[in-house]
Amino acid sequence: MARLSGRQFIDGVMVEGAGTRHAIIDPATGRSCGQYADATAEEIEQAVAAAARAQREWWAMSALERTSALHEVAARLEAGAAQVGECLTREMGKPFRESHWEGGAAASAFRHFAELARQDQGRIAGPAIAGQIHMTMKEPLGTIVSIVPFNFPVLLFGWQAAAALAAGNAVILKPSELTPITMLMVMDAFAELPSGLVQCMTGGAAVGQMLVAHEHTHGVAFTGSVPAAQAVARAAAERFKPTLIEASGNDPFIVMPSADVELAARGAAFAAFLNCGQVCTSAERFYVHTDVFDAFIERLAAEARALRVGNGLDEVEIGPLASERERARVESIIGRAVEQGARVVCGGSRPLTPGAGWYLEPTVLEVQHSFHIMHDECFGPIAPVCRVESLDEAIALANDSRFGLGANIYTERLDEAFRAIDEIESGIVWVNTPLNDNDAVPFGGRKFTGSGRELGAEGLEQFRRSKMVMIAPRAQPDPEWFPYPDEDSFRSVRGASD
Ligand code: NAD
Repeated sequence: MARLSGRQFIDGVMVEGAGTRHAIIDPATGRSCGQYADATAEEIEQAVAAAARAQREWWAMSALERTSALHEVAARLEAGAAQVGECLTREMGKPFRESHWEGGAAASAFRHFAELARQDQGRIAGPAIAGQIHMTMKEPLGTIVSIVPFNFPVLLFGWQAAAALAAGNAVILKPSELTPITMLMVMDAFAELPSGLVQCMTGGAAVGQMLVAHEHTHGVAFTGSVPAAQAVARAAAERFKPTLIEASGNDPFIVMPSADVELAARGAAFAAFLNCGQVCTSAERFYVHTDVFDAFIERLAAEARALRVGNGLDEVEIGPLASERERARVESIIGRAVEQGARVVCGGSRPLTPGAGWYLEPTVLEVQHSFHIMHDECFGPIAPVCRVESLDEAIALANDSRFGLGANIYTERLDEAFRAIDEIESGIVWVNTPLNDNDAVPFGGRKFTGSGRELGAEGLEQFRRSKMVMIAPRAQPDPEWFPYPDEDSFRSVRGASD
């Protein structure tokens, strides 16, 4: 980590950052594990100029050459996954198994888009003029600004960058302030690509804003919170830049009486507590049918109590929250829920061991839908569980949300599963298989969660624009040209006379 502390990755070189330095705190110990620098305006100018040069070189290559280069990136991501994973755990705390996983999962997205992009680069339409070729050509946007959060930085940057590069763009990454060294380390995966095609500028919101507002960046891929997404979308709109927005979620998780309650509780524990609850698709609101409510909440609490909390580099399932501020925020959400009448079934406090670090016990609460906790994203290790009388009530409450990312249902009845799929207002529905992804199908949300899609075939289109092209095989006079024949005049057609 020391070799990357305070660096910027510009035009293929790790340079000493000239901007203000900030400490990076290991959330498992509360001690500093490095520094990052705020990118300066001058460094941003250098990166934007390098990106423009590299993008021209990249797009001048054949589609097959780009495919092969992107497979090489995937291989490097896989090879570096353990080293990058260790760094990610030190910077933001998640268990090593989860941070190690990210490199391979990002590689999978690169392999998907590497192949997809060479399958089609547009389409031919039936010509409006006989003998001509009329077509839609797909072109890259140019330079894409990629802004990612702290919770899955390698994976989420991988999703954005794989699609953007496959579409022929250059990418400038602005990582989270909490995971800058991890993302500088990821830059090693791009060593075989043209210098400057992928760059990393560390810093905070101001660096993100400078990149988004820059005259010579052409598209934005943002993943993060709603207020930051709104600021990014506003700045991009000034120049009509296409914007992919993946913001917050507040996913419902429905359990019906036909479900295997034990399995549903295990799935629920994973969906609520994975990455200490810091997942955009975390199950954040449980609506459990009254017939299985008591059995479910007891099983879920047993699962929560069995989770080992500690340093992500040890044998644990739950690491610390990513920062002291995040833990304070999550504790205040628990406190407010308790004030409103929530019953603490388990957890709710800081664990006695380990002492240092921003730890919080996995927490199960019995709540009412009207409580504040059910109406905003918690982004912490809390499972608030609400009793419902019917599927109708569960779906109505699930849809009573400003967000629309994912939704889960556990049921063994096909009719209930189909109703959930049809009626829940979300971008994703998981039936008995919480939180899984597939590179081949699109990921994204609606309402305040954002706009646009990643992965699938749709993910590539976020980073391409269409060009209308018409080709006549040889020059010929066109009957639409001048001079206009007199028989087409007003006088001839309407027979008018003065
Ligand atoms: P955040 O919004 O604080 O930061 C995300 C990124 O945006 C960081 O790189 C940050 O520096 C940058 N940023 C912040 N303000 C900015 C501004 N005004 N202009 C430009 N850039 C700005 O989010 P976070 O705390 O790192 O991550 C947690 C959030 O991310 C949660 O709300 C979570 O739901 C969301 N998230 C969404 C998805 C999804 O796919 N929908 C995936 C993961 C995380």
